[in-house]
Amino acid sequence: MIEQLYKTGDLPDNELKKLIENNEYGQELYKKADNVRRKYYGTDVYIRGLIEFTNYCKNDCYYCGIRKSNTIAERYRLGKEEILSCCKNGYELGFRTFVLQGGEDTYFSNELVSCIVSEIKKLYPDCAITLSLGERPYNDYKAWFNAGADRYLLRHETANDKHYRKLHPDSMSLENRKNCLWNLKKIGYQTGSGFMTGSPYQTTENIIEDLRFLQELKPDMIGIGPYISHQNTPFGNNKNGDLHLCLRLLAILRLMFPKALIPATTALGTIDPKGRELGLMAGANIVMPNLSPVKVRKQYQIYDNKICTDEEAAESRVYLEKKVLSAGYKIVTHIGHVCLNEHFLQP
Ligand code: SAH
Repeated sequence: MIEQLYKTGDLPDNELKKLIENNEYGQELYKKADNVRRKYYGTDVYIRGLIEFTNYCKNDCYYCGIRKSNTIAERYRLGKEEILSCCKNGYELGFRTFVLQGGEDTYFSNELVSCIVSEIKKLYPDCAITLSLGERPYNDYKAWFNAGADRYLLRHETANDKHYRKLHPDSMSLENRKNCLWNLKKIGYQTGSGFMTGSPYQTTENIIEDLRFLQELKPDMIGIGPYISHQNTPFGNNKNGDLHLCLRLLAILRLMFPKALIPATTALGTIDPKGRELGLMAGANIVMPNLSPVKVRKQYQIYDNKICTDEEAAESRVYLEKKVLSAGYKIVTHIGHVCLNEHFLQP
């Protein structure tokens, strides 16, 4: 099964189910996935500087700690100057991609985001800008792309409509989320999607649908991470996603999408102290340390016990460097675009 997945990038549903559900194939899967990542990216790990610039959100996703109904969450927004100062700090630490992520905050209008993006691009023309601000109209995405944004992250969360309904209120729809993803692709963004592993009510069949949707979308970036409960949400008592399920899926994704940019996420590092290293060894090739000011870190609490909320960016950069090395890879500091040709290793 693993050989066939490696050779053809695909498997029938019943065999995917076996690989997803059984840990006995784990080691073999990780080894094969690591071979594939080395073929395209060597031992390079790309870093992205994450700037969580607002935790205001108009949405009410049942799993997310910054949902609007969480009245206990202390809300914050970073101003343009604060965002630019995160970029300056990040640039000096070697970051060449800035990821601006936030809740769905209408305060950040089309114009304001365009202005922030073009300012960052003017100051750091050798850097990529990734946006992750949720679902917005086509015109907003278009304006931000024209202002200089290169990439956009929007996880589809689940590709099954019934499952989507169990995780989100009626005001949201899977159809709109998918439309946004197609719009982003049409505009020309390097587009990222993905889903949580082990989210409430998720079945193996749902996960297979996620993989099938990704095959259709053909994203450049795929983010997955374990679901982790947050005490002030309707799913506060649900159990967290399993480490090994997420690792097996990282490996399956690497075999299905050999050239994709796949992060070892903070959520993976939160459910297990070695989670991110194991993620890299299972096929991931990106890490996204936090560049947000320490004073607001704890407030971007999408799930409980999120790691790296106390240290300065420089400290976490050094710490992560060691972790990556210990897993057998190395952090590189170039822009880190997706690999488009065979045997591609960026200078
Ligand atoms: N508002 C933006 C960014 C959301 S935060 C957007 O809609 O895209 C980024 C990701 O964190 C989400 O896409 C979701 O998959 C993940 N996330 C949210 N709550 C989580 C939780 N409780 N556990 C694990 N991951 C979570």
